[in-house]
Amino acid sequence: MTIQELIRTNKIKPQDQKLIRDAFEFARTAHQGQKRKSGEDYVQHSLFTANHLASWGIDPVTIAASMLHDVPENTKTSLDDVRKKFGEEITFLVLGVTKLGRIKLRNQKDPAYVETLKRMVLAMAEDIRVVLIKLADRLHNMETLSSLPREKQERVARETLEIYASLAARLGMGEVRGKLEDLAFPIVFPKEYNRLVEEIRPRLESAQKYIPLAQREIHRILQLHKIPFSSIEGRSKHLFSLFQKLQRQEYGMDLSKVYDLIALRIITDTVEHCYAILGIIHQYYKPIRGRIKDYIAVPKPNGYKSLHTTVFGPERRFVEIQIRTQEMHEEAEYGIASHWAYAEHGKPKRGISVNQRQLEWVRQLREWQRESTDKPEEFIESLRIDFFKNRIFIFTPKGDVKDLPEGATSIDFAFSVHSELGLHCGGAKINGKLERLDTKLKNGDVVEIVEDKKLKVSRDWLAIAVTSNARGKIRGWLHKNEEGLISRWTPEFIKKRKK
Ligand code: MN
Repeated sequence: MTIQELIRTNKIKPQDQKLIRDAFEFARTAHQGQKRKSGEDYVQHSLFTANHLASWGIDPVTIAASMLHDVPENTKTSLDDVRKKFGEEITFLVLGVTKLGRIKLRNQKDPAYVETLKRMVLAMAEDIRVVLIKLADRLHNMETLSSLPREKQERVARETLEIYASLAARLGMGEVRGKLEDLAFPIVFPKEYNRLVEEIRPRLESAQKYIPLAQREIHRILQLHKIPFSSIEGRSKHLFSLFQKLQRQEYGMDLSKVYDLIALRIITDTVEHCYAILGIIHQYYKPIRGRIKDYIAVPKPNGYKSLHTTVFGPERRFVEIQIRTQEMHEEAEYGIASHWAYAEHGKPKRGISVNQRQLEWVRQLREWQRESTDKPEEFIESLRIDFFKNRIFIFTPKGDVKDLPEGATSIDFAFSVHSELGLHCGGAKINGKLERLDTKLKNGDVVEIVEDKKLKVSRDWLAIAVTSNARGKIRGWLHKNEEGLISRWTPEFIKKRKK
C-alpha cells in the first residue's frame, strides 16, 4: 500500500492530507531498514493500521498518530522527537498505545484474569482513540498472522478473541469484531472451524445463487411503490458468530435452525421509510412468527438499531431482511467510531463535543459492565465506575502490571512485587529516572526498584506507604527488629506528626 492509495481510497480532505503525509514520512524514516516477519517493510504495518482507521471514518489526528504507533517502542526515534514534530495531542495518543502494548496476557486460561485485563485496557486508555488505534493495529497483525510461528499465532489469536474482539463488540463495532473473530477462529479452534466450513459450504453455494434473485425482486417491488432506498445488499453471517450461535442450546449445532445465515440488508434514508419498507415486504412475503424485531423502537443494549424480519421470500425460501437508515448502518458497523467522524470546520459531524465523547465512552463502559454480569452483587460492584479513578496500573520493567490505589508510592509497588524487594527498597527509578521514594506514582509508570541488601527499613516509610500490604509488612519488620519503638506509629500519630 502507498500513502497515495490511503489518501485516495478514504477520500481524505485536502486540508488534512499534509498531516497524514507528514506522519507517514516520519514513520518511514524512523522504521527505515526494518522488516516485518512477512518480509515487508515495517512501514507497511503503519500504513495498513492507519488505513483501517481512515476507513472507519476516524479523524485525521488519530490517523496520523496511528501511523506513528510503533515508533517510540521499536525505533531509535523517541517520543520527544514525535512531540517536537507533532505536538502534545498526537504524542499523548502514541504514548497511550505504547502503554497498552506493555500489557501482556500471561495466564490465559483464567477467566478472572481476562476480566481484569479488559478493565485494565479500559482504564489505561484514558482516551478511547487509543483503543481504536490498538484495534486497528491488532486487526492488521491478525491479517498478517500467518508469517509468525504457530505457537505465537495461537497466543495472539486467543488474546484477540478474548480481549480485542470483545472490546470491539462493546464499542458497538460489529464489523471489526466480526473480522477479528473470523481471523482468530481457524487458529484457536481449527477442528471446529473445518467442520463448520465443510457443513456450511453447500448452503452458502446455493445462497450465492439465490441472493441476486431475491435482490432483483425486492428492488423491483420497492421501485413499484416508489420508496427510496440506497442499497440492497446480501451479507452472510460471520463464521465465528455463527459457531457461537450453534453452540447455544436452542440450536444444538443444527444449521437448519439458523435463519440469518444469509440476510438481505436494505438501507434507506429515514426511519419512516424503514417502517414503510417493512410493511411492503410483509405484503408480498409472509413473515415468520416471532422473527419480526423492532430494534429501532427498542435498540439492543449496545445501541444497535434496525428492523429485522424473516420471511418466506422469493421462491418461498426463508430469508432474513434487515432494514435501517444509513446512519444506523454506520453505527452498527463502526459503533463508537462512527460518532467521531470528521470534524467539519472544527465541529464534529453529529455535534458531539469532546466532553460528550467522554460521556459516551463512560456510557459504553457501563453497558459493557452491565452485560458482562448476571449476579446482582457483581452488578453493584461493576457499577462502581469510579473504581478506575481510584486505581493506577504500574509496570515492572519486564511488562508485568501491578494494580495499586491512587497515591501509592514506589514502596507500595516494591511490596506488591515481593516482600523481600519491599524490605530492601533502596531507591526507585520511575520511567528510567531516579526519584524520591515518596513520589506518588502515576497511571502507566514503569518502576524499577533499586535493591539494597544492607538497607534497614525506616520508620518513615509508614508515612509514605498507603497500601495495607506494605504497611503491614513494614510494621511486622519493625516489630521484630525494633520492638517497642513502633507502637506509637499509628496512622493517627503520623497524621499529627505531619502537621
Ligand atoms: Mn503495531
